[in-house]
Amino acid sequence: MKRPDGRKIDETRELEAKVGIFSKADGSAMFRIGKTTAIAGVYGPTNMYPRWLEDPEKAVLKCYYDMYSFSVPERKRPGPDRRSIELSRVIKYALMPAIVLKEYPRSAIKVFVSITQADAGTRCACISAAAMALADAGIVMKDMVSSVAAGLVNGEPVVDLSKEEEDIEGTTDIPIAYMPRLQKITLLQLDGKINPKHFREAIKLGIEGCKKIYDVQKRALKEKYATDSIGIDGE
Ligand code: ADP
Repeated sequence: MKRPDGRKIDETRELEAKVGIFSKADGSAMFRIGKTTAIAGVYGPTNMYPRWLEDPEKAVLKCYYDMYSFSVPERKRPGPDRRSIELSRVIKYALMPAIVLKEYPRSAIKVFVSITQADAGTRCACISAAAMALADAGIVMKDMVSSVAAGLVNGEPVVDLSKEEEDIEGTTDIPIAYMPRLQKITLLQLDGKINPKHFREAIKLGIEGCKKIYDVQKRALKEKYATDSIGIDGE
């Protein structure tokens, strides 16, 4: 089957990653998959406010997802909405299993992820960017988190759905996040219908896609520490 943009069923869109793009945050990263671009900044471990919400056993992870007004064809109203609140939670729970929160009792770790350009798969791009930014901030982690959507397009399992594919009638979207070393899935959502055989095939394609993303993330992290890199804000 030919996909609308000519990709094979197991082919992701073009991948690009960069670590340490901002100098003011403790950690930062950019992740691009095709025309979807996410940037992430991490602060922490830092004090938890209000203090009564701190956890004496472990750090509290806070995630904020945002989509720039100019990231979509029709200007998006700025500020949080129902979707961004939901995606902030989804991203938080996809990242949490990889972070050793017990290392930082009474603290907060804050993750800010923004979409500068959206063409489907924004939650996954945010997770991949945020995991690199957390590593860049020196947060103790058990593993990286790599994320991509799989799904069913025109009756066939595929990896990394574009917006054009998402909009096809009957498409099923399955965002996946994966810890590649521990071989554990940390996010699995399903929007649409799929039979068990296609579901297994889609998950397999998704995991293979996550492994490719992991290679790109690792390379970006190594690049940052191999060179004395300068952030895009010049510091
Ligand atoms: P995800 O981005 O993780 O796939 P959704 O399924 O909610 O999450 O969104 C699918 C796609 O729809 C987005 O990636 C984006 O391209 C588009 N989209 C989402 N919100 C808007 C919006 N307010 N205006 C235009 N397009 C949007």
